[in-house]
Amino acid sequence: MPHTDLLPAPAFEPTRAAALARLRAVRPAAYARTRNHLDGAVTRLSPYITHGYISIGEAIGDIHARTPLTPGHKLVFEFAWRAFFHHVWQHLGDAIFSDLRPALPGVRYAPALPPDLREGRTGVPVIDWAVRELYATGYLHNHARMWLASYAVHLRKVHWRAGADWMFAHLLDGDLASNHLSWQWVAGTFSHKPYLFNAENVARYAPDLDCRGTCIDQPYPALDSHARADHACGAEPGPHPGVEEPAMEVAAGVAGGAAAAPDGATEMPPTGGRRVALVHPWSLGARPDADLVIGLFPAAFHASHAWSARRRQFVLTRMRAICDLIHTGPAERLSHVLRDAAAVGAQATHYPGYRTFLEDHATLLTSPIAFFPEPARLCTSFSRFWHAISPHLADFDAYVHRHAQ
Ligand SMILES: Cc1cc2nc3c(=O)[nH]c(=O)nc-3n(C[C@H](O)[C@H](O)[C@H](O)COP(=O)(O)OP(=O)(O)OC[C@H]3O[C@@H](n4cnc5c(N)ncnc54)[C@H](O)[C@@H]3O)c2cc1C
Repeated sequence: MPHTDLLPAPAFEPTRAAALARLRAVRPAAYARTRNHLDGAVTRLSPYITHGYISIGEAIGDIHARTPLTPGHKLVFEFAWRAFFHHVWQHLGDAIFSDLRPALPGVRYAPALPPDLREGRTGVPVIDWAVRELYATGYLHNHARMWLASYAVHLRKVHWRAGADWMFAHLLDGDLASNHLSWQWVAGTFSHKPYLFNAENVARYAPDLDCRGTCIDQPYPALDSHARADHACGAEPGPHPGVEEPAMEVAAGVAGGAAAAPDGATEMPPTGGRRVALVHPWSLGARPDADLVIGLFPAAFHASHAWSARRRQFVLTRMRAICDLIHTGPAERLSHVLRDAAAVGAQATHYPGYRTFLEDHATLLTSPIAFFPEPARLCTSFSRFWHAISPHLADFDAYVHRHAQ
């Protein structure tokens, strides 16, 4: 079956029930065997994990209760990658949005994606398929993300930051740490070498997307030379049908359409003497125990990090389900309302535009529940991170019982 027949990929319903159903469907043995294949048994849990519908601890605990895992299991390893990226973000803060190591010398990268790439008409079948899949579903398999990033940076010479911002905007699971650090890893600014792939690699993991005869149909040494040269490939010759990029929701609260009026929350109920909880887009688990639960969706963040309408919907639908009201205007407008509250609880986040507001206004700021131990010192590579945490995971059964929540 051609991979294009897999479209449309499963929709992500914005409910906890849907997240739990997906969790129950995880097949760890099949995952370990097939996860690198585009049609492999990956979990597709990422939108739910990114937005806090479920935590990594809850996911691992649930899977482990049905099919005992070991720390060396591929699934545990992949969850640990996410924890690693967040560990780096915790230590480096906004520095992750710039090159962490020098880029390949002498290469000039463009500040924007070329239109043919953005419109999925490069003529490289796997790339055009990935762009369509991203736009159609808001989800991409890990291998497709790696190929797309590598093609954009090393063959088309697009700066990784432009590619990362674009992909982040369309992903339902867009996570600044995992996304921007993965793009840097592919570019070689957060690793020791550029990540490269070729048509043979695609043939192995996505056999129906035949890329022979295109610019990626080269042996690795030739691709490496190309990555280090200051010369960009163009689109493949010939007309290729394109796809329209879905519109972005740039400033939340301003371009909210029908959702803006009920959620605008300019009319705030009194908070005097009440326990208030603030919920943000990355803490969409159970409704917090509070007298008044306010969803935060401030314009400041969304003006600089655009989201697709699909993602906005994914977040706001869940927010409506667990909050009494949603504030989409400037966060500062909430300030005077919160002054009289008996307590203001929230989960901390690094997301710019949310972080400072929460630090300034929450009287009870809790850390998100971490499943993996947090190394005290910065680990600059996954292998160092794993080396630091794996001794703690040795008795995995006991560890899961203590930390799975
Ligand atoms: C260029 C690029 C951009 C990426 N952007 C994001 C992003 O914005 N948000 C995001 O959550 N992941 C991102 N990833 C990591 C990874 O591709 C996705 O987490 C994964 O594909 C999500 O699908 P899944 O839930 O089916 O994963 P599975 O393979 O089923 O893995 C289970 C869970 O483990 C975590 N995980 C798996 N692989 C990775 C990984 N390589 N890095 C970090 N966590 C991982 C995710 O939470 C995932 O839900 C990116 C990777 C690349 C190469």
